[in-house]
Amino acid sequence: MRKIPFAVRTLNALRTALSGPPALAFVPATCLSAFWLGGELALMAAALGLPLAYAALNAAGSHSLTAKAAGARPTGAVSTDVFHDEIQAILQQAKKSGENAACVAVSFDDYPAMLDLHGHAAADHVSSQFVDRVLAVIRGQDIFTQIKPNRFLIGLHPSAQLDLEACVQMSGRIQNTVEEPFLLNGASVYMSCSIGFCMRSSIPEAEPEDWLEAANAALDEAQRNGPMTIRAFSSQTRRRTLVRANLRKDFVAALDNGEIRPWFQPQVSTDTGNITGFEALARWEHPSKGIMGPQIFLPFAEQADLMGRLGQVIRHHAFSAMQTWDMGGTKIPRIGVNFASDELRDPGLIDRLKWELDQFDLTPDRLAVEILETVFSRRPDDVITRNVTGLAALGCCIDLDDFGTGHASIASIKRFDVSRIKIDRTFVAKADQDPSQQQLVSAILTMAERLNLETLAEGVETAGEHALMAQLGADHVQGFGIGRPMPFEKAQIWIGSHQAKQKGAPEIGRKTG
Ligand code: C2E
Ligand code: CA
Ligand code: CA
Repeated sequence: MRKIPFAVRTLNALRTALSGPPALAFVPATCLSAFWLGGELALMAAALGLPLAYAALNAAGSHSLTAKAAGARPTGAVSTDVFHDEIQAILQQAKKSGENAACVAVSFDDYPAMLDLHGHAAADHVSSQFVDRVLAVIRGQDIFTQIKPNRFLIGLHPSAQLDLEACVQMSGRIQNTVEEPFLLNGASVYMSCSIGFCMRSSIPEAEPEDWLEAANAALDEAQRNGPMTIRAFSSQTRRRTLVRANLRKDFVAALDNGEIRPWFQPQVSTDTGNITGFEALARWEHPSKGIMGPQIFLPFAEQADLMGRLGQVIRHHAFSAMQTWDMGGTKIPRIGVNFASDELRDPGLIDRLKWELDQFDLTPDRLAVEILETVFSRRPDDVITRNVTGLAALGCCIDLDDFGTGHASIASIKRFDVSRIKIDRTFVAKADQDPSQQQLVSAILTMAERLNLETLAEGVETAGEHALMAQLGADHVQGFGIGRPMPFEKAQIWIGSHQAKQKGAPEIGRKTG
């Protein structure tokens, strides 16, 4: 609570006493007493003095009220609109007084994982507990708002003591409050947060919008270096932000102009050796930097919220390739496309996908939706569950990707109508030479058989691994040993030569009995 100074309290008490009905009774009595005690002079002094004192007190009182009204700015948790107005006021006040102020931006680390694990309602509950904790840490005049589900802003009022160290300390205190477990239905959830801030002195001529943007840029940088990181805005941040903004522009342009497109890796049947599908794997064919794999740009695309856009572009090229093969009489049963959890969280996904398939005259069974096992092993939120079961109901093949690296339960495999598991290449590597690898693959294949699931062994690099996978009963194989990912034009050539080879070659024997 803010303390009201003693002088203001006294003035207010006197003003109350000297106004209204009590004062009316009090004035004649005072004048009479003055005449009785001091004679005419005292009477005149009292008669003139009292109204003057009354007016003076009232003026002082109304001034303190006016000052109070002017100072009674909103504090604590406020709406974003109020926050923007107040940031403007803080900036003006700081400019006038020459004191420093700061804008602080906060985000939880690994927020998508929390959403996957606990869902939106739980995330809201954590946010509201966080608000209370921050309000307990900041000063009375400071303001706080939530601009996105996982982004909070704090305006620190001008103060002579507010320097870089004080801001870092304040950020540390906020991080400490987040380290305390959050309670969700009696269970403890452990979170951390990253923080970016910008002091007014770092960009003295800034408009409020620039100031907020600078704090957000500092937070983005903290998150990239996170978890649990604090970053202050500096001229370097601005330079790096510019570089990233250009990268984003380049990435979006590359998506539009066809520089980013899928390369196709073949999948073949262990029974017949025929092509059973291709997996579409994103590549950036950069004019000066050369070919870049997803490990270079996926982390950036995720942070820049561009996964949905990337998915659309990859599907467009992949479906168009399927249509070209269909029209040329080449039988490619399925195309595998990777779906990021961000995309699976899009409520409009199924409708969009129906439309996209229609556009290329493809039935849903021609698409294998590849979903990482890690998405299944977390408790997916309602939208993900609805989308995956919806895609299965539509007739798409649901591929459980990188099987063996996450913790998908048998229940979740059933719940999501998984039709095929893709055994991760870490199990396949050297399985023909390593009995323990072989045991693991056998165990996975037995489980799949019992659950009536198709199987595909990934990362098959050698003829020995290929032969063993066939012998153990994997339905399909994919890997450098069969074919590397290649651009569409090369895939066309590969298909031709594979089919020619198939005509003359004996089938790779599959386990019998
Ligand atoms: P993934 O879905 O498991 O794809 C298989 C990865 O293994 C590919 O890497 C592929 O080039 C590589 N690979 C295939 N055969 C072999 C082999 O015999 N040996 C070895 N050592 N590696 C092999 P890539 O293309 O670098 O993709 C990496 C990951 O990036 C993919 O793993 C997938 O999770 C993700 N990804 C690729 N394209 C997309 C996309 O369009 N959208 C999304 N959301 N993710 C994508
Ligand atoms: Ca995949
Ligand atoms: Ca995989």
